[in-house]
Amino acid sequence: MKKNHLFLFCLLISGSLFADERPNILFLFSDDHALRTIGAYEGSINQTPNLDRIAKEGAIFDRSFNVNSICCPSRAAILTGKHSHANGITGNGSAWDGEQWVYSRELGKAGYQTGLIGKWHLKGNPTDEFQHWEILSGKSGQGSYYNPEFLSGSKGASKVEGYSTNIITDKALDWLKNRDTKKPFLLCANFKVPHIHRIPSPTKMGEYDGVEIAEPTTLFDDFSSRQPFVKDTWMGLKGMKEGVLNIAPSKAELEKNAQLTPKFLKEMTAAQRNIWHDAYDPRNREYRRLKKAGLLEGQAGFRYTYQRFIKDYLRCIDGLDENVGRLLDYLDEAGLSKNTLVVYSSDQGFLTGEHGWAEKRWMYEESFRSPLLMRWPGKIKAESRISALVQNIDLAPTFLNAAGLPVPDEVHGRALQPLFAGEIPTDWRKDILYTYYDGGTPAARGSYNMPRHMGVRDERYKLIHYYDYDAWELYDLKKDARELSNRYKDPAYQEVSKRLKLRLDALKDQYDLPDPPELKKKKKKRKH
Ligand code: CA
Repeated sequence: MKKNHLFLFCLLISGSLFADERPNILFLFSDDHALRTIGAYEGSINQTPNLDRIAKEGAIFDRSFNVNSICCPSRAAILTGKHSHANGITGNGSAWDGEQWVYSRELGKAGYQTGLIGKWHLKGNPTDEFQHWEILSGKSGQGSYYNPEFLSGSKGASKVEGYSTNIITDKALDWLKNRDTKKPFLLCANFKVPHIHRIPSPTKMGEYDGVEIAEPTTLFDDFSSRQPFVKDTWMGLKGMKEGVLNIAPSKAELEKNAQLTPKFLKEMTAAQRNIWHDAYDPRNREYRRLKKAGLLEGQAGFRYTYQRFIKDYLRCIDGLDENVGRLLDYLDEAGLSKNTLVVYSSDQGFLTGEHGWAEKRWMYEESFRSPLLMRWPGKIKAESRISALVQNIDLAPTFLNAAGLPVPDEVHGRALQPLFAGEIPTDWRKDILYTYYDGGTPAARGSYNMPRHMGVRDERYKLIHYYDYDAWELYDLKKDARELSNRYKDPAYQEVSKRLKLRLDALKDQYDLPDPPELKKKKKKRKH
């Protein structure tokens, strides 16, 4: 063999021997996505064919929970695999310590190409957590739905014309198409939808007129069984302001008096504004007619608000679902589907009208649960339903494990791979810890008049401790899935309470949780 042929032969052999076969990871993430608005989940009220595709071709997790159901703490828990007290992000105002251990940096160091595109939201921009990042900026890290500004490490700030969900997908696709194909990738596409103030994409604005969306059975919860301060929190649908329900002056009214233009319309181009007016002006005319006729009093008004709220929510989800489809299609076209772990989740669930609320924060199931769908051909059987208790702190170890990397002892979560075969290993956790700190105290209740709390949930029961009040709630989820009957003082449940209190103490010990919880001083209280 000639010398140059030998060289080429060796190159070919080494290329095939050392080709990086580690899986890619595409982590799709949204903000405030309620499980009842994903088709694949039980009791769903809408269709999401593309999200459902992940579940159908992979697994749906029925008992996936977060550790602290609010935006920034959830994001930090996922990056670090740790409970809030250990990563420092106890509330939305906590400052992000970017020097701490995060899974994405480890994957980068191990040869992955890593990127995060979309909503970051932590107070403190990324540095080297991801090799490439382009994050929504402005509005305390929330960014805008229309013509948002992005900030990146390499390019600085730039405004992009269009709709947030579409742009994040465009940028994610560009990154995938231009990546170094010799390396496996980790790409996080973090969408802003369906966070308040919900504005759908131009192609989804016209949907759902003339249909009634199902109400949750607990819409008119009377709170009779709960601790008294629970009903006093400020998160009711009733209190939603007209602006965030897309009730605003009509085009004709704004032409007469431009000063009335709300900020969200000012952010749109003239063409985008016209589409908004075409969709919302007729709805808002009807709203004013009903209001004037006195037809929106009491329960009727509540029901009307729910419909306005949930329809915008679903319009936003429809845009998300369509864009998830674009990303899945690209994986197919590029031959990447087989060796890519696709994960869909959200920073928390959301109360979409349950107990009359439109919020998160609580340890009640609707916000405590997070959607979790995973597809990984050959590793996860199609149409798997996994009912083990899992938490968002398990994602970091799962990604490390997928990349063949060890999970450091300091990480609280556990890799989900042992669940992929369909059985729950006997040593899997039997209960989970929840903490919520971003509230006030009885003396100063904070922006949502929200009590701090913590608790433990096992397969059947949930015990919640409102420690500033030394007050408790206990729910038997098998008999009372909607959590309407607090059993804490029921003599029949004394043994359960006693056992769960011991378990709560044990979990606090396990995770080295300070007691009483000591909070890092918050810089500033922020909404969301
Ligand atoms: Ca959120």
